[in-house]
Amino acid sequence: MNVLVLLHTDERGALGRGALEAVGVAAGLGLPVTVGIVGESVQAAADSLAGLGAAAVFGVEGAEFGSARYSTDAAAAEAICRAADGCGLVVAPGTSRWMRALPGVAQRVGARVDSHVVGLAADGSGAMVARRWVYRNRMEAAVTRPTPWMVLLDSGAGAAWSGPNGAVEVQRSTVDVLSSRTEVLRVESPQADQQTIRPEAKLLMVAGAGWTKKQKDGQTHVPEASELIQDLLRLTGASLGSSKSLVDLGSEGESVLPFLTHMHQVGQTGSSPRHAKGLATCCHGEEPHVVGWRFVNERRAVNLDANCGWGRKKADVLYVADAFEVAREIRKLLGA
Ligand SMILES: Cc1cc2nc3c(=O)[nH]c(=O)nc-3n(C[C@H](O)[C@H](O)[C@H](O)COP(=O)(O)OP(=O)(O)OC[C@H]3O[C@@H](n4cnc5c(N)ncnc54)[C@H](O)[C@@H]3O)c2cc1C
Repeated sequence: MNVLVLLHTDERGALGRGALEAVGVAAGLGLPVTVGIVGESVQAAADSLAGLGAAAVFGVEGAEFGSARYSTDAAAAEAICRAADGCGLVVAPGTSRWMRALPGVAQRVGARVDSHVVGLAADGSGAMVARRWVYRNRMEAAVTRPTPWMVLLDSGAGAAWSGPNGAVEVQRSTVDVLSSRTEVLRVESPQADQQTIRPEAKLLMVAGAGWTKKQKDGQTHVPEASELIQDLLRLTGASLGSSKSLVDLGSEGESVLPFLTHMHQVGQTGSSPRHAKGLATCCHGEEPHVVGWRFVNERRAVNLDANCGWGRKKADVLYVADAFEVAREIRKLLGA
């Protein structure tokens, strides 16, 4: 069986981290690898994979394939799947662009598709097994399916591939885009330092509802809390998470930290981020919240209450302290 690793370029015309992780996973299967790339221009991306020694490299390129759009992405991916006929397994990064387009492509080419796969390898009998979490990360499923089979990988599913650049021959397919009702005008995204959800960060900093509660002087200090949290994020490069109580406060009409959204919520009804370390501040550490920390290896918390959830074996280290004072001190130590 051959593996087709299906990629698209990023806004720089290069292959992003997710794409390189997909290449790493495909290369680790020990099967012949074919590459397919979609983008405005694919040569530079293809050349960056010269060291892979791919059996073939297919490409679809042109201005209309530079931006995410279902109709053009699906048409391009379909053309590559057909050109790489015989590749029973298609491995692709689970980017928002491919998550949207590839399930439709799987339907067009008669393949099965699985998303949110966190590991892919052959088992003892040689069958390909994909691993993914189910029931909000409570159980891990091992899935195997008949080919053709398309697998979309979550970030972190494998180590990013790296190798030397070189000249790679790309077999280009022409895709007729007859009409498209969606016109991509521009991409608007926050500055990198304004983006507070940073999956690549080593540290997760969680803010809990305590930041907005009355403090020992009987007053709330939300503006200072906001400033301290943002300063720490800027100085440490940490990713920001939140408890449910804190993100819910906004809908209750209470004063809130303006940069927090439900996207930040960690826990049973939120996300389960994967950072090497985590620091919870002003957060009680109740089970529905802490369940979202299952992939965080080293856990620390700052809480006034020694008897909070973190103190009951949920954190490796609990600092019984005022998070305002701790944050001010850290800010000073980091030289701000
Ligand atoms: C079905 C269900 C699903 C849920 N899903 C989630 C989920 O996905 N995520 C989630 O987070 N919650 C979830 N919850 C809610 C969860 O049970 C808790 O209510 C919530 O996590 C509490 O948030 P908190 O710790 O920020 O607030 P609080 O419980 O109000 O705790 C605030 C903490 O701040 C501390 N504090 C105050 N001031 C300071 C200071 N100056 N310095 C240090 N510490 C200070 C206090 O001691 C206190 O421990 C769920 C609940 C249910 C029933």
